[in-house]
Amino acid sequence: MSDTPTKFTDLGLSEALLKAVRDKGYETPSPIQAQAIPAVISGRDVMAAAQTGTGKTAGFTLPLLQRLSENKGKKVSPNNVRALILTPTRELAAQISESIEVYGKYLNLHSMVVFGGVKINPQITRLRQGVDVLVATPGRLLDLYNQRAVKFSQLEVFILDEADRMLDMGFIRDIKKLIAVLPKDRQNLLFSATFSPEIRALAKGLVNKPLEISVNAENSTAEKVTQWLTAVDKKRKPAVLTHLIKENNWQQVLVFTKTKHGANKLTKHLEAEGLTAAAIHGNKSQGARTKALAAFKDGSVKILVATDIAARGIDIDLLPQVVNFDLPNVPEDYVHRIGRTARAGNTGQALSLVCADELDLLWGIEHVIQQHIERKVIEQFIPANALGESREIKPLKQGRPPKSKPSQNSGRGKGRVEHKDGQRSGRNANGNSTGGKNTGGNKAKSSNDSSRRKKPEHDGAGPKPRRPRRPANKS
Ligand code: AMP
Repeated sequence: MSDTPTKFTDLGLSEALLKAVRDKGYETPSPIQAQAIPAVISGRDVMAAAQTGTGKTAGFTLPLLQRLSENKGKKVSPNNVRALILTPTRELAAQISESIEVYGKYLNLHSMVVFGGVKINPQITRLRQGVDVLVATPGRLLDLYNQRAVKFSQLEVFILDEADRMLDMGFIRDIKKLIAVLPKDRQNLLFSATFSPEIRALAKGLVNKPLEISVNAENSTAEKVTQWLTAVDKKRKPAVLTHLIKENNWQQVLVFTKTKHGANKLTKHLEAEGLTAAAIHGNKSQGARTKALAAFKDGSVKILVATDIAARGIDIDLLPQVVNFDLPNVPEDYVHRIGRTARAGNTGQALSLVCADELDLLWGIEHVIQQHIERKVIEQFIPANALGESREIKPLKQGRPPKSKPSQNSGRGKGRVEHKDGQRSGRNANGNSTGGKNTGGNKAKSSNDSSRRKKPEHDGAGPKPRRPRRPANKS
């Protein structure tokens, strides 16, 4: 497709949207935007392989707003929505909603975000007025639907974002239930980092003669990221991390740990070392997560320690430094993690602290990214338990992905997977929780999820995901 437009003004967007894009400082559309925007405006279904960092959010938000504002005659009835964006995590939902707010600031459309972990009643109240765009996580949306707080008879556009992650997180049944109650005549957009056979199967019942777009070879994020690792004894990981942060004067570091407990422990260690740090994971209240993320974005907290699910989709411009404090159990998560840096064409650095018993995990990662990660020695931290050699890289196989090994070696937390995020929050976790006031109404301000509830988040404590996470097919 060599004649893909390269200017925003060529994409068919209205002046109100172009102005918002200019305000945001974007000069040229990213490849996904250049391809998706005209197609979506034309009313076509789209199926796009695109990871976060490619500009996909604007790729679907801009044309969606365009279409909805073109059809202004269609006044939305109480409890109805004209467009539904389904996304796996609360953070992602909040971010998308923020984007809608930013891009739609010169339009008179109403959007709203709903997710679990905050009180449901304010969401029900707000929905009574009807909204043009609803951004939602699946569990809470189903709760709302079952309580007849939301209706889909006026739905024009359905967007499934991060579909691969949705499946990994066990949302497939919820998604199918939701799709089944949507009107047949609608436009569908499906975004996924990868098109695994499972995603294709899901797409079959969803999109209709879609335009297929693939903007980045899978795992290519890795190419823009300088990746390296250092071998270190497990107990010395906090010390080596502190050393590196101080030595290099790193100002903004996203650190990944395998467990919520590990995230808390590391945060305490960093704080004791005089560094500003905050943890973000499924046991943190939504308000605490939002606050931590905001502090990290504005620089008042330099180190954000996160578990994979909590960090999924976090979008921070120019994030220079990602650290894998623990290697992830699922190799593909490594790619997602380092995709937090080197976003939108920038370069970034991803460092992994690897101890001897993570060798299997390292092999898995190097296989998925099809390269060896450069090893650097830090003199003061040469491990007593040497890290074994990397293995020869064999080509990725077609077909089913290799089985991931849940939580090897680590003993504690064996087989534990952080609970899926944004899922149905259960009665005891929402309806009767204390305090929370704003839950995501009013022109979709993502910051309005600052419920003051004190209860822990549901995700992490509730029922198990319906199926274990499995790496998406990378071939
Ligand atoms: P996304 O893939 O939607 O998460 O977007 C990744 C980042 O790229 C976000 O910080 C966007 O603000 C930014 N971005 C999106 N589109 C453009 C563009 N055309 N030019 C520059 N930055 C962009």
